[in-house]
Formats: sequence, structure tokens, C-alpha cells
Amino acid sequence: MNIIDGKKISDAKRAEIKERVSKITKETGKVPGLATILVGENPASQVYINSKIKACENAGIKSFHRTLPANSSKEEIISLIKNLNADSQIDGILLQLPLPDNSFAQDCINAISPLKDVDGLHPFNAGLLNLSKNWQELIDKNVLLSCTPSGVIHLLHASKIEIAGKTAVVIGRSNLVGKPLSMMLLANDATVIMAHSKTKNLKEVCKNADIVVAAIGKAKFVTKEFIKDGATVIDVGINRVDGKLYGDVDFESLTNANVFVTPVPGGVGPMTITMLLENTLKAFNNRK
Ligand code: NAP
Repeated sequence: MNIIDGKKISDAKRAEIKERVSKITKETGKVPGLATILVGENPASQVYINSKIKACENAGIKSFHRTLPANSSKEEIISLIKNLNADSQIDGILLQLPLPDNSFAQDCINAISPLKDVDGLHPFNAGLLNLSKNWQELIDKNVLLSCTPSGVIHLLHASKIEIAGKTAVVIGRSNLVGKPLSMMLLANDATVIMAHSKTKNLKEVCKNADIVVAAIGKAKFVTKEFIKDGATVIDVGINRVDGKLYGDVDFESLTNANVFVTPVPGGVGPMTITMLLENTLKAFNNRK
């Protein structure tokens, strides 16, 4: 088993971002700013938001944290978003998901200015991803790409794992992870299969893949039997069972296998926040 060290790759990327922020601040006299919005008091969301605020501080990005009570209406959340859209100090807006009432989450995301959509979940940015010819075009146009999927692509690139011409199976088709990641792998010239709960013979489908990404939300779901010799396994899952953290991949079952694999924790997780910093910088440059 070869472990893809997400923490190490993420630390290197954050150091590079910090340098770019410092250079920009010296050149322009302006500091990139990220607004975070937390609705309610979900403990896991509070932990995520605090990590994001701390990562901003470390990178030299100014953070503006806003909280709203759990019973806030869609209109109240959108009203706050509109104020942040109009605030010139703020380059990026992150609405922490899930909302206490997640049924109107997309309506709230749609209210974020596409130029400040650092989560890359606004239809405008999701559309740019879908319309792109290839990865280079997305980079050249500074498109705001959804953070977890673009973090996965960065892990693959940094680990020098070939994507072009390879078969990739993404298990999960959420708007947050599975769909955008499939489009990003496609932009990197992979042959992509998007699997989901209705996929038949999932084990066999995965067994043919060079790259398997698990974004399911079920602890230890993907076992050694899903994975062919020499494949790369990316575990996006975060599952808390009896106070312990598990991925969607049965990591232990791969111990003696000839594979590249991301651990949980310390794999994809750190990259998500890193790509949020990257997007804040992109948004700053795009707005400039
Ligand atoms: P989600 O919205 O619940 O989507 C889960 C996907 O898995 C769905 O598309 C579902 O298929 C599919 N699925 C469920 N059971 C399946 C099965 N038995 N076989 C095949 N596919 C199955 O979850 P998400 O937001 O994409 O998140 C997925 C996981 O990633 C979660 O553990 C989440 O905590 C984690 N996550 C981690 C990060 C990070 O920073 N590391 C960021 C975001 C999410 P259907 O569409 O058919 O229902």
C-alpha cells in the first residue's frame, strides 16, 4: 500500500498560497477577504468553520465571520448574503452546509455573487466547469471550482498519478462532490463512470478502474474486492462511528495490496480547506 499524504501535499500548497497572498498584499495594499456564514450551532459545522478561519489567518487572508440563528428563514440568509455581495472588502463568501433546513440551501447559494462563490457551487461556476474543454482552460480562466473535488485533482497531480486515458469510477453523484469531481476527471481526459446507489454490479464496475473515488457516506463500504492491482483509491468519505472517524474505504483491507490510497483522516480532508484558500485568492484576482 502506498499512502497519498494529503496533509503533506496540503501543507506545501498552503505555503505557496501564503506567499502569493503576501506578494499581492505588498503590491496592491489590499488583503483578500473571506466571509464565512454559519446558520445554527451544529458542532461539526462549528469545527469546520473554525478550521477555515484559522487557515485564513495563517495564509494572511482576512476572515469575516457571520452567524445566524438556526431558525433563520431563507429570506434572512439571502439578505445577509446580499450585504456581503456588496461589501468590497469581501472577495469570497462561504455558506457552511448543511443548513439546519437544507431544503433551501441551493436557493441561498444561488444568491451568492458568482464572482464570490468560493465553494464553486453556484450554477454559473458549475456551468463553466461543465462547458470547459479541458483542465488547462479551467486554470487559464481562473474558474472557481468546488473545493473538495478540486482538492482530489490536486492530490492526483501532486502524486504524479496519471489521469489521462485512465478509467475512473466515482461512487457518488452529489452536486457537492460526485458530479463536479466526475467533470474534473473528464477535463483531465479520464474515461469516467459515475456510480450511485442504483448502479448494478458496483464491485465489478470498480474492479476495472484505474482510479476509484469513494464519495458515498458509508463507513468502510469499499473493500479490497472492489480494487484492481495497481489502482489508485481516493477516499472522500467522513463517517463518525462511536466517536471515531472512518472513510468510505476499508483502509485496513488494502494494507497488503499494490495500491495508492488516501487515508482518513489526513487525505482529502485537509485539501478541501486548502482549495478554499486558493479560490479566495482566485476570486480576489478575478474581481481586481
Ligand atoms: P451525499 O449527498 O449523501 O451523496 C452520497 C452519494 O453516494 C449519492 O450519490 C448516493 O447515490 C451514493 N450512494 C449511497 N449509497 C450507495 C451505495 N450503496 N452504492 C453506491 N452509491 C451509493 O454525500 P456527499 O455530500 O457527496 O458526501 C459523500 C461523503 O463525502 C460523506 O461521507 C461526506 O461526509 C464526505 N465529504 C467529505 C468532504 C471532505 O472535505 N473530505 C467534503 C464533502 C463531503 P444516490 O444519488 O443514488 O442516492
